[in-house]
Amino acid sequence: MAVTEAPKIITGRIGHADSHTLERYLATGGYDGLRKALAMTPEAVVHEVDTASLLGRGGAGFPAGRKWAMLRKSPVTYLVVNGDESEPATFKDHLLVERDPHQLIEGVLIAAYATQVSQVFIYLRGEFALGLERVQAALNDAYSLGAVGSDIFGSGFSVDVVVHPGAGAYICGEETALLESLEGKRGFPRIKPPFFPAAIGLYGEPTVVNNVETMSNLPWIVLNGGSAFAALGEGRSTGTRLFALAGHVNKPGVFEIEMVKTTFRDLIHAPVLGGGIPHGRELKAFIPGGVSAPWFGPDEIDLPLGQDEVADAGSMLGSGSVVVMDDHTCAVRASWRITKFFARESCGQCTPCREGSGWLEKIMERIETGNGREDDLDLLLDACDNIAPGLTWPPQQTTICVLGPSIPSSIGSAIQMFRDEFLVHIKEGGCPYG
Ligand code: SF4
Repeated sequence: MAVTEAPKIITGRIGHADSHTLERYLATGGYDGLRKALAMTPEAVVHEVDTASLLGRGGAGFPAGRKWAMLRKSPVTYLVVNGDESEPATFKDHLLVERDPHQLIEGVLIAAYATQVSQVFIYLRGEFALGLERVQAALNDAYSLGAVGSDIFGSGFSVDVVVHPGAGAYICGEETALLESLEGKRGFPRIKPPFFPAAIGLYGEPTVVNNVETMSNLPWIVLNGGSAFAALGEGRSTGTRLFALAGHVNKPGVFEIEMVKTTFRDLIHAPVLGGGIPHGRELKAFIPGGVSAPWFGPDEIDLPLGQDEVADAGSMLGSGSVVVMDDHTCAVRASWRITKFFARESCGQCTPCREGSGWLEKIMERIETGNGREDDLDLLLDACDNIAPGLTWPPQQTTICVLGPSIPSSIGSAIQMFRDEFLVHIKEGGCPYG
């Protein structure tokens, strides 16, 4: 088992109790990346980020530099930061927002300069009460420092930043729903095309949307160079990445690890990372990239934590959340709870998602509570097939956004991997795990 010596690019400051303050930030190289960027041309900053091959850390994994380069062909009006992290067991951006808000702001300012945007919105999950307080305080300090506002650091470049709290809807993490919410409307995902807000974004203007972790990497990339970042990791998965490790591990938490060079076994079992499964129990299954992702079993534990490696194995790294289930976990109950979440958070615009999620949740509940029927497994798969035809991975989509086709993942995985467990629930009239 090997955990690499890769530098802590975005969590290096977090060991300090006052990591969120301007004093600590300035004492540890804070805003040096922005000063360096302002002395470069915007094109040169984009080039560094492109060289880094920094994949967006929000879930879709689109290269940030390429996204900006595309946008630079036509002027961008707004930069929006997506900090609406709200999926169950996903809490990596939460750490960055609370513990290193200046790093986020510095990254945002570098991105604004690179794309020549003069108005930025940081949209944060409303439940991040401490995070909102700290980002707002950091922003006020950054204004006082001259890092934000008019003629920042005497560079001639001006930019304003507004922090905007969400109101508690998971779907506002979908970027077009987030833009609707920012505009003061109900957080409904927009019909595609256009597929990217680059064409029609906030208030109908060209907009770039980036994730909190993506932004937080920028100060290091500008200071150390894109090639230093690209030298870490392997293939398309360069640099380090944060993973929120939850479930049955001795040390749940957020870990920054080098991509591809670290495996799921390392993440779960290494003493300096997850520390293994409690009570000497065995691994039953794990979810590699948030509750929308298909599950893996013990046979996949040696897979590297890399975007393509996980995709080729039939799942995704998605939101950077890894959930571990030990051999005392009821697969039916785990999948039911995930389905319940999606049914609760469906915005209701699309029939397959709105109706399907509710039906699936009811069927899963009756199986778990001992009222399942013989044909329930076929019924579950049929309803899943109506939401994501063919039940393939990546899923086919019949809906406006990807929440719909995310619903069948856990049910499909649980039935495929633990069909006998479903049958025991149905035949014995209840959950064998108590
Ligand atoms: Fe809303 Fe679900 Fe349709 Fe997405 S898929 S737009 S959440 S109803």
